[in-house]
Amino acid sequence: MSPDFAVILANGRISVEARPLEGETPMEFAARLVASQATAGEILALPGQPSTGRSVVVPYAALANEVKLAAIRALFPADVRATAGWLHIAVAEESLAATADWFTGRTDHAAALARENGLTSDVVSRGTTVRIPTEILLRPFRDAEALDEPEPPQLTWGEDATGRYAVYRLRKKEALYSAVVVRFTGRVHAPDVIELAGAIAVRSGIEDVRAIPVGYPVKIPLEVLSEEYLPPDDPRARARALERAETSQFAQPATAKGLAGVRIVLDAGHGGRDTGTIHGGLWEATYVYDVTVRLRKLLLDRTQADVVLTTKDGSTGWKIVEKDRLPPRKSQVLLTDPPYDLADPVVGVNLRWYLANSLLKRPGPEKKRIPPERTVFVSLHADSLHPSLRGAMVYVPGERFLRERYGKRGEVFASYREWREQPVVSFSRRDRVASEGASTALAGKIVSSMRKSGLAVHPFSPVRTHVIRAGREWVPAILRYNRIPNRVLVEIANLANEEDRDLLVTRRFRQDVAEAVAAGLQEYFGADVAPAAKAVTPTKPPERKKATKKTPAKKPTSTSR
Ligand SMILES: [Zn+2]
Repeated sequence: MSPDFAVILANGRISVEARPLEGETPMEFAARLVASQATAGEILALPGQPSTGRSVVVPYAALANEVKLAAIRALFPADVRATAGWLHIAVAEESLAATADWFTGRTDHAAALARENGLTSDVVSRGTTVRIPTEILLRPFRDAEALDEPEPPQLTWGEDATGRYAVYRLRKKEALYSAVVVRFTGRVHAPDVIELAGAIAVRSGIEDVRAIPVGYPVKIPLEVLSEEYLPPDDPRARARALERAETSQFAQPATAKGLAGVRIVLDAGHGGRDTGTIHGGLWEATYVYDVTVRLRKLLLDRTQADVVLTTKDGSTGWKIVEKDRLPPRKSQVLLTDPPYDLADPVVGVNLRWYLANSLLKRPGPEKKRIPPERTVFVSLHADSLHPSLRGAMVYVPGERFLRERYGKRGEVFASYREWREQPVVSFSRRDRVASEGASTALAGKIVSSMRKSGLAVHPFSPVRTHVIRAGREWVPAILRYNRIPNRVLVEIANLANEEDRDLLVTRRFRQDVAEAVAAGLQEYFGADVAPAAKAVTPTKPPERKKATKKTPAKKPTSTSR
């Protein structure tokens, strides 16, 4: 599939042919590829060590579990991680013992698979779907993000004079905007959603978008379809499958109980004169700063992490202001050397990633070195999307959208220590692949933690590798030029949605968001966070008219740690 990573399925056996990524040492490569130190030693001892020019072939059984997942993803792009387990679709005849071995690590699970799937033969024929129950899946397969939709939507394909398209038949209560445009094309910004809905309506011969009959075939042009919905043989779908396969090998960080030895950089979006988005009189900057200082306190109280903030409010500092509705404030500064008053949002965002890259190299408490893999960057924002959408979504740095080298020039930056330390930043291919994989895993933990707490999360693709807007695709600058390997941008709510706004002006909601992000960070580093207490925030905000009425706060049944 690529010169760096090829998966071979021959005579019912899988093997991987791989070589180090540009920027990866043979030692790092061997440690990543195989499960045991002994095998890693064997690989390193091969005549003519593996290098960016020389690859090795390793049988499936010897692979590290993350690489097994990568291989399976590359070979079977149509497989689905569903709520009920892994849905595997055989592309060739395979023995049930092999299926069991690939997904559970044990051939003797074949009997369980036969039972679960009502199979009478120990040979699985081409096209058969085998469900592997969650309980017996290998760890990385179990941890892979389950599709939100219990059943993937059924699409069919067609072609007319204008080109290829997918056909989706609307179900009861589904609307063109949410069920088609938002779900299948990834568009979330109001002008994009409206424009594309119009174009799809015209293509499909729909005259009134508010009165589309159930079952009506809606045509979605292939070029606007998100990769995950493309037919598996489409070149874009193949490229995405390969990217996921490669990046998922980097999904598991080393365990750090109680976040000991971990540095967490918290970045409250905007601030100072940069208000961020404004809706209904609420400033994005004010509310995400509040969540950030709440998160800071939780991490300091409950973990041993070294917590660093990128901004500070000149009047309230990092103190939590115990008010529901917060007064707008322009007193935050960016903690560069010297501090920056955030007068210009573009300069601000660039100085932020210079600051992040500088923090990556600073020693921790007691002058201890903090390895990059144990450094995390969390930027908190609230977005302004189509008003029908609500809830959180998380952006991660999509490998395809990262540049190899980047730097700002100009006097504005030269007066800052962080710029002088490293004016130009560069990324090897390994850096780019690894950061997408690690950040996606972290984002998955944050999203599932939010779901467990009953907080609203976008129903479709809540973890995204890039922004799609006005016909362009990109990774937010704060993630794009940032060298911290584990980095996410969390959009905690949609400020353009009335319900999300009503929640945002409650302390309870902001505290619940902070709790969920803290739990997600701990789970990412391997903590068994006790089943998260159901957040007190109802998924639906109280009715608007009663919003001022005091409701007795319900105690959570247990405290999440
Ligand atoms: Zn923002």
